[in-house]
Amino acid sequence: MTASSLDREKKLLEYLQAHGRATIQELVEAFGVSNMTIHRDLKKLEEAGHIQKRHGGAVLAEPPHPLGGYACAMCGKPSAERTIFLVKFENGEEKRACCAHCGLMIQSRAETAWQSLTADFLHGHMVSANQAFYLLGSEIRVCCVPSVLSFASRQDARKFQMGFGGTLAGMEEALAHLKSMMHAPK
Ligand SMILES: [Zn+2]
Ligand SMILES: [Zn+2]
Repeated sequence: MTASSLDREKKLLEYLQAHGRATIQELVEAFGVSNMTIHRDLKKLEEAGHIQKRHGGAVLAEPPHPLGGYACAMCGKPSAERTIFLVKFENGEEKRACCAHCGLMIQSRAETAWQSLTADFLHGHMVSANQAFYLLGSEIRVCCVPSVLSFASRQDARKFQMGFGGTLAGMEEALAHLKSMMHAPK
């Protein structure tokens, strides 16, 4: 049972690699299994990061982490996948930052920024920056100091805070905090 479903997942993936995309119906016919089975297989493949489910079908996933490796638009450091922060502008331009520290700085200086995404520090997926929770100045210094880590869930952020200290903040508070540090009286 397990072997055959693994086998099918592999073949499903090969099918998608050959075609780029496929509808559920197509896959049901090609593999002679039920709708449910295809959904379940696709879900597994999606969780493994191989594909993305689309309405009524699936497409091959983008190459893993296409965002990593770019120089930060703020400080020039290469951006690590785990901390990347993306600022999108009204004109379609996009700036990549090494971490939420730089990302929030870019955002605070750019009036035409309309959408920002930040990588969840724990899980690595991109989340909307204005809905993320930030842990400021914790002991985890993966990138710029003061360190700013982003989390999709408040609970995850709290866990890190309990372990590594720092201040928990929403995006506005995090922005205000960074600004106040920059303009701190000497
Ligand atoms: Zn940077
Ligand atoms: Zn950084």
